[in-house]
Amino acid sequence: MTSVLTGVPVSSGRAAGIVVTMPAPVAEPPVTTLTDDADLDQAADSVAAAVTAVTTDLTERAGRATGASADVLTMTAAMAADPSLSADAVRRIRDERATPARAVWDAAQQAAATLESLGGYMAERARDVRDVRDRLVAHLTGQRQPGVPDPGHPFVLVAHDLAPADTATLNPETTLAIVTGSGGPTSHTAILARALGIPAVVAVAGSESLADGDTVLVDGAAGTVDTAPAPDAVAALAGKRPERRTFSGEGRLADGTRVELLANVADGAAAQAAAASGAEGVGLFRTEFLFLGRDTEPTVAEQTEAYAAVLAAFAGHKVVIRTLDAGADKPLPFLTADGEPNPALGVRGLRTSWAHPDVLERQLDAIAAAAAAQPQTTVWVMAPMVATPDEAAGFVERCQAHGLEQAGVMVEVPAAALRSRWVFEHARFASLGTNDLTQYAMAADRELGDLAQLSTPWQPAVLDLIAATCAGAQASEGGRPVGVCGEAAGDAVLAAVLVGLGVTSLSMTPTALGDVAAVLAATTSDRCAQVAAIARDARDAAAARTAVREALADVLEPLGL
Ligand code: PEP
Ligand code: MG
Repeated sequence: MTSVLTGVPVSSGRAAGIVVTMPAPVAEPPVTTLTDDADLDQAADSVAAAVTAVTTDLTERAGRATGASADVLTMTAAMAADPSLSADAVRRIRDERATPARAVWDAAQQAAATLESLGGYMAERARDVRDVRDRLVAHLTGQRQPGVPDPGHPFVLVAHDLAPADTATLNPETTLAIVTGSGGPTSHTAILARALGIPAVVAVAGSESLADGDTVLVDGAAGTVDTAPAPDAVAALAGKRPERRTFSGEGRLADGTRVELLANVADGAAAQAAAASGAEGVGLFRTEFLFLGRDTEPTVAEQTEAYAAVLAAFAGHKVVIRTLDAGADKPLPFLTADGEPNPALGVRGLRTSWAHPDVLERQLDAIAAAAAAQPQTTVWVMAPMVATPDEAAGFVERCQAHGLEQAGVMVEVPAAALRSRWVFEHARFASLGTNDLTQYAMAADRELGDLAQLSTPWQPAVLDLIAATCAGAQASEGGRPVGVCGEAAGDAVLAAVLVGLGVTSLSMTPTALGDVAAVLAATTSDRCAQVAAIARDARDAAAARTAVREALADVLEPLGL
């Protein structure tokens, strides 16, 4: 039997280490009462012991963490130690003969409901109380602590799937590689793993057979997990992070043609890291991360501060801010509808502003204020999920009313790609969201690993849509710039194809900048046009990729790509 499991490669690099599996979510304890002869003092003491254990664990983890995650862990530790929570749980044990786990669960539910009724900042804390609840219940019922594990040593994380909230707490210093049983190439797990430079393979068949303590070798480029790696291969990689080619300066083809190489970021810290990686600017600022995980909209002041932090990192350069892209896999309780039958085809992206124009207005207020506070940064604004020329016109008009002149659209709906000439009558620029464009062109949910062979921007149909978008831009008055900000931009081989199709800038996770810049620097405009034609001529995605790799072999081989 082979020792190699295969999946979908989503973040390159090789790493070897010990498996730590993601714990199962903590289930609600049954509503049972203590027997008549139960020792109530002992039950009450077990709550106190759980509080001590969980607080100590969180405090120790905070000591090992840095930055925002250290702050979150310290705050959660303080919340676990809050005497009112344990006092209410003990009261439920004594008065209602509740089991300790059930008593903690109900006490925390009550505390969370009270916080939610207060609204605003307090309502945000309800989530933290539920996190503390799960930790205490896990301790009381002998389960593992929930969330991304922190075993105190580097490890390979194995999970069925990772929620955005989990991935946000990953520590790139100790997470050597990620292996998941589900997830597609443009799922959140994949995007975040690439952003953090962690090798990752998703949709791995047989990943559930991996157990804590196993040693595996993960190859994030080949999409393999070797469950019986040779000891010398493990020793050679042990504990090492993969090396990345660095980038600094300008993106240029071998013939001098400029191709702006930009970064995708979600907050000020990521923008600073991107600037340090040499990015020429930001091609996609995903603003929704400020809104996600909250029960209420951030205030204009809060938004302004967050946007200004990103602009400040790129003084003298360009930052393309995308307005809120909520809905589908990024639901927001105050904005998006629950229970849509097909959320990816529902009220998401710019469409949320139809019923809530005020949320977009306040966001544009904040963007305009941030731009005024950081006058050295060139601010462009774009809307997600634009489908028609009228939507583009409406958005551009609203931006201009806020003094934001450089307003454009994301092209991620096939209709906008095919009709781009009319979209460009209004939009000053476009950025191709190839993750969603692929999802909609191929009718393949981007989060589903089972559809990974369809979900690739190498699909010739997707390349045709990109070509149509660029043709529309070139036919527009003065020519309009078209960038790519989907994950396709960070594929160093596909980058040459995209440029050949007429794309003028590429925005990606900063760890990809070095490889993309190196391939482009060794390729001329003519060759980019040639490989674009080769790829569009291919009958399917695999053939397109193979043919382009062959055509660029003299460029790729010396670079080890
Ligand atoms: C895209 O769809 O390609 C894109 C960049 O947007 P997101 O991944 O945030 O949906
Ligand atoms: Mg998108």
